[in-house]
Parts: sequence; C-alpha cells; structure tokens
Amino acid sequence: MSGVDRRQALLTVAAGAVGLLAGGGPVLARSLSDRDDKTLKARKTAAHGPPPDPGYAHGPIQALQRPVHGLKDLSPAAPPTAVALTVDDGPHPTWTPQMLDLLAEFHVPATFSLIGQQVQEFPELVKRIVAGGHQVSDHTVSHPINLPDLSAARIKEEIGDAHDRIAQTTGVAPKFFRAPGGNWSTQVLDTATEHGMISIDWAVDPRDWARPGTGQITNTLLAAKAGDILLCHDGGGDRAETIRALRNVIPALQKRGLTFVAL
Ligand SMILES: [Zn+2]
Repeated sequence: MSGVDRRQALLTVAAGAVGLLAGGGPVLARSLSDRDDKTLKARKTAAHGPPPDPGYAHGPIQALQRPVHGLKDLSPAAPPTAVALTVDDGPHPTWTPQMLDLLAEFHVPATFSLIGQQVQEFPELVKRIVAGGHQVSDHTVSHPINLPDLSAARIKEEIGDAHDRIAQTTGVAPKFFRAPGGNWSTQVLDTATEHGMISIDWAVDPRDWARPGTGQITNTLLAAKAGDILLCHDGGGDRAETIRALRNVIPALQKRGLTFVAL
C-alpha cells in the first residue's frame, strides 16, 4: 500500500472514532512476553497515523506495536473494578447457547471472538450473541494458528473477510480483533488497524481449550485482578469444563467486588 493509500485507509478508520490511548502510552511501554518476542518484529519508526484531529471525541485508532493486554490500555477508561471476559472460537451450536445462558443468569456481558466460517454456518447464534448485549470480535475466517507466517494478501483475507462477514451478519462492524493463539506480528496488527479494529490479547489464560480440569480452570480464573482481560473458549472442542468453571468463578469474582464489562 502506498503512503497515500495507507493514510487514506487510516483516516477512514479514524472516522470510526474508537479510542485508544495515544502512542507512547502504556500499550507501547509494556514489556513483551516470550511468545510476543518471537513473533513481533521491530517496527518501522515512521508514524503511520493521521495527524491529531481535535474534532474527534476520542483519538483515531493508533497503529499498535503490540496488542492490548489490559483494560487500562483502552479509552475511554473502564471502571476501576472492571474485568473483561473474552470467549473465543465460536459460535458453536452446543457450547455458545450454554455460555449465553450462563452469562445471562449472572448479568455478565462478554466479548466473543468469532471465527468467520462458523459465523457463516451459524448466523442465528451470532445474532443471539449481539442481542444479548455482548461485544463481538474478529478471530479470522479459518483460525490459522500460523497467521503471521501467511502472505500479506492471505492475512488481509483472513482478517478482512471475517470482519465483513461479522458486519453483514450483525449489522455492526467489529471493533476488536484477536489473533488465533495470540500469534501476533506487525503485519497482523497493521491489517487489524486498517480494518478499524483494536488488537486484543489477554492477561489471564486458564488454557481451557486443553481441558486441564474444571478445578484448574477455576483456580486460574480466580487469580484475576481488576483491569484484567480473561480468556475462555466456547468452541474448538468439549467446553463442559469451561462452563462448569465459570459457573463458580463469575459469582466469586462478583462477590470480590469486580464488575464484568464487554470490551
Ligand atoms: Zn482461537
């Protein structure tokens, strides 16, 4: 993409006016995990974003050096007691309805990272997610775990086509993107930004997809602190352990004074 095209794309993104703290804030200062070190390459030093425009209530989306790990990196700021539950790899005809019922029971909004192929297969579930007051996030078309290794064109397809499919199904363009397996790269981050989405990682990962047992999932999630983004799944296999764990974890965290928010 030429400089002019890129600038135009970012200006288009800016019109969506989803705020993120300006470059140089805590997102950029945070140290990388080992996993991120392997996949993130040094970024170009040139600024990509459009100049600040005081006309926007929130700043334009900034090109990120790394994904957002915690709620303090988002703007406007979440309440100080907030935690965010993210639910990945759906929609799934068995587990998504159980997850939605559980969240409704405890009045918990969450953020669902949706796989495009499954959005196409189960559009009614996606509509039910949105009708329940939950946020939706782009999780690529086919969940390639090696997304950073694909060509720029394939990365654009995986991210852009899922974005469009979610938008067409729900009538709302997703504002967030999560890379499969949390495998990020500069190309992946930039492509998400070009589609108007903030890249979201997590702070608390019970690895529920590996079915480590309800007790272990529960204990990991109970370590959540205010400001954390929690990762769980409603697809990719039998999620009975996840549902059982959340049934204990949600009221326990609420009793501790934490408030669940959608991103
Ligand atoms: Zn996933």
